[in-house]
Amino acid sequence: MKKKILIVLVVVAALPLLALLALFATREKPDGPRVEAEPGVVGVEAGGAYAWIVRTTHGAVLVDAGLDSKGAAILAELQAQGVEPDQVQAVLITHGHPDHYAGAGLFKKAKVLVGPGDLAMIRGDKAHHAVFGKMMSTVMTLPPAPPALTELQGDELLEFDGAQFKVVAIPGHSPGSVMYLYKDVLFTGDSLLRKQDGVAISPSLMSEDSERNFASLRALEPLRFDKLADGHAGVTLDAKRKLARFLAATR
Ligand SMILES: [Zn+2]
Repeated sequence: MKKKILIVLVVVAALPLLALLALFATREKPDGPRVEAEPGVVGVEAGGAYAWIVRTTHGAVLVDAGLDSKGAAILAELQAQGVEPDQVQAVLITHGHPDHYAGAGLFKKAKVLVGPGDLAMIRGDKAHHAVFGKMMSTVMTLPPAPPALTELQGDELLEFDGAQFKVVAIPGHSPGSVMYLYKDVLFTGDSLLRKQDGVAISPSLMSEDSERNFASLRALEPLRFDKLADGHAGVTLDAKRKLARFLAATR
């Protein structure tokens, strides 16, 4: 009898793990260690998530900073482009999951910005609610919050050294998820990603509130953009049309 209970307990405990394995098995294959969205916009795989480097006149702005707190891939790409770490003017974080901000503290001169609601999560004042987030925060020590971290309102137009970024609040994947629009490239983090020949939101195990994530995407309809640069798959071309198709199919 006890043995049966034990077997049931083991199976129940293993279910989330099996679900995660299934998720990873079906995930979109990333573009590779380095991908160019357009001239001056390069993504590097930085410990399981893309960090994007946007060149400005005198340096660079990063969108997300990966899970590697030593930032090896980001620093190598900056060096290849002739940019010093202190010439990074800002790190724009799409959301407060550790695979998107761990390297941000390396850039001492940069403003580090995060969406409204995720500052507390990064500082550890607020628990992670997504199943995956809970597992991450139990199996690993979360990277320390970047010292210069500041919270956005979620609707700003930011300018760094001639490069303009429009902030778009897309709550759902995390409470403070934001996207950043730079020219015709939309940096989406985990709130909208390439999936097969279209786009999709993150699986619900990875998100705090998938329905809210989906509903928030309406804010993108009036915007002009052509490409997505996301957190895990890479670049999506013809993205506006693919978003419209995704919204129409899922409504
Ligand atoms: Zn995430």
